[in-house]
Amino acid sequence: VRDDRHEIQLDVLITVKAYPQPSKTYGECVCVAGIRLDTVPAEWIRLYPVDFRGLPRRHQFHKYDVVRLRARRRAKGPRPESYTPILDSIRVVEHLRPEDGWSARRPYVEPLRVGSMCELQRLEREQGTSLGVFRPAQIVDLRVRRVDDAWDDGRQAVLDQQSLLAARPMRALQKIPYEFRFEYFCADASCTGHMQMLIDWELGENYRKTAAPGRSEEERVQLVREKWLHTVCGTRRDVHFFAGNQQAHPQSFLILGAFWPPKRKVAVATPALFE
Ligand SMILES: [Zn+2]
Repeated sequence: VRDDRHEIQLDVLITVKAYPQPSKTYGECVCVAGIRLDTVPAEWIRLYPVDFRGLPRRHQFHKYDVVRLRARRRAKGPRPESYTPILDSIRVVEHLRPEDGWSARRPYVEPLRVGSMCELQRLEREQGTSLGVFRPAQIVDLRVRRVDDAWDDGRQAVLDQQSLLAARPMRALQKIPYEFRFEYFCADASCTGHMQMLIDWELGENYRKTAAPGRSEEERVQLVREKWLHTVCGTRRDVHFFAGNQQAHPQSFLILGAFWPPKRKVAVATPALFE
């Protein structure tokens, strides 16, 4: 019998979906985060575990969907924003589309923006904050490191077992054979620089989609770097990073994704204003 006493109903604007990872406890899992719309003021929430690919299609959601669901506060772990979602309660109720020029999304994201990554790390020390959004001040590079292209035996065993039990056949979860890390400075006056791994699902999909006959691995990696450095973080974009920390290493944040609306045109002040 399900204990419903601590279950609450939430409305969440989904802003983050990380690339799926096999967890030895939960099987294939996606870290999902977003903004609660049922609280005043709006606040961050992390939903975990979500076996996203295993969800029936009617429960699957996209970034910038508003979903209604039931969830429980996670008893384990100190991160205040973490909830366990009741997966079969998830309903998509709305989608904020990019065709609206991102303008529909700004009013939700901007009130939660903090000054910098260094500030987010201070907030983590002071009150355990584990999710945030901020503008990186200066992006230096997207560094790439080759890693194993296979899951370790334990994780592969978890995936194999899950696949046997799955309600419908599913493509094997591909391990992305690279780690991508943003090297950047945040806007804090005393920032000494950050080097943080990007774990957005979109990054994994970007890499997977670069596969083409005759294209080398170097070319594929270069295409992914160009996409993130020159499109997402390009000069025409007002790029923000979504960041979240690791439960075992609270001061260690990862880049979960980007919010990258076009820069707003700055109105040219008329000279009269300065007279
Ligand atoms: Zn910093």
